[in-house]
Amino acid sequence: MAYRVTLIPGDGTGPEIMKTVREVVDATGVKIDWEIQEAGADVAEKYGTPLPPAVLESVRRNKVAIKGPITTPIGTGFRSVNVALRKELDLYVCLRPCKSYKGVRSKYQDIDLVVVRENTEDLYAGIEWPVGAPESKEVIRLSQNRIREDSAISIKPISRTGSRRIVKFAFDYAVKNGRRKVTAVTKANIMKCTDGLFFDAAREVAKSYEGKIEYEERLIDNMCMQLVQKPELYDVIVLPNLYGDILSDLCAGLVGGLGVAPGANYGDGLAVFEAIHGSAPKYTGQNKVNPSACLLSAMMMLEYLGETAAARRMEQAIAEIFAEGRSVTYDMKPHRDDPTAVGTSQMGQAIIAGMNRAAAAPAAGKKA
Ligand code: NAD
Repeated sequence: MAYRVTLIPGDGTGPEIMKTVREVVDATGVKIDWEIQEAGADVAEKYGTPLPPAVLESVRRNKVAIKGPITTPIGTGFRSVNVALRKELDLYVCLRPCKSYKGVRSKYQDIDLVVVRENTEDLYAGIEWPVGAPESKEVIRLSQNRIREDSAISIKPISRTGSRRIVKFAFDYAVKNGRRKVTAVTKANIMKCTDGLFFDAAREVAKSYEGKIEYEERLIDNMCMQLVQKPELYDVIVLPNLYGDILSDLCAGLVGGLGVAPGANYGDGLAVFEAIHGSAPKYTGQNKVNPSACLLSAMMMLEYLGETAAARRMEQAIAEIFAEGRSVTYDMKPHRDDPTAVGTSQMGQAIIAGMNRAAAAPAAGKKA
């Protein structure tokens, strides 16, 4: 039976990337019944919102979705579809594996880190007030005037529930994926209440994994330096929202940048797969950008669906294309204006050809 998956093409370069993603996933032989749902600035006029209710209903119904990047228009009053989707569906985990592939230019080799970022709380909760708002004045009064009068205020909520469930996800992920260690990261020496609570919750959760998974703590500033100096010391890293956002870009940088950094958002029984990068609007319609990050996100989706063999076949074909360095987009060439760079769809076709060759090889071997 086919899996039913919601596919949100997104906007900017999203639709051309997601067309390639669909072709490559279909070529693995896994039967997927794609339910296309439009979201983003292009549909906002028609539906009065960039995130029509049908999109949310589709994800809730199918439980699995894959999404192209979506532009957040500046100054329209529409909030980010990406943030709204995570909030509406309570996708509290943002999982970002950062793995080195041969042929991807980077200062480091053999990196294999996983960043687990809390996705719903912290300074991203969207609770903030401008200078002079009654709420800002009230917080300033409560602070006994330790806050300057001309301050804008953002609130940083960190809950025991939110912290426990993200740390538990990190440990369960470590167990399931044969990882050895979970590192919790905050700035608890300064934010004793909020970040202190995150560490308290993490220690409590860690107790149930004693003897199975190692647990340690780091402060975010020190962690940034350590990751640049000795990334091999780390394995699974779990963080509150803001530190997680920043650190996952740092880790993407360790393995070659946004073009190859996949991601997944998980809630209870729901999963939405998407790359870290945005809609790269200046390249829209040019068949130019790298589909790899979205393809690797699709590979994570196949793993989530239990199609591990298909996921490995796809990863192997992608890795071979990277290592060969021929049928890759401009950003993976030594020089960005390299005339041998191929387009988004050609890179996808080369990956499909690689999977087909691999599938044919054992059969040919048997005949011989
Ligand atoms: P971006 O990721 O779109 O682009 C940053 C840089 O990386 C640009 O130079 C771009 O050309 C390049 N780039 C991005 N993806 C690439 C790819 N696949 N292949 C090759 N090069 C690539 O970030 P931005 O310009 O800050 O954001 C553009 C829009 O995307 C904004 O509206 C932003 O809000 C939105 N955005 C969406 C998501 C999402 O949908 N999850 C994530 C980030 C940004």
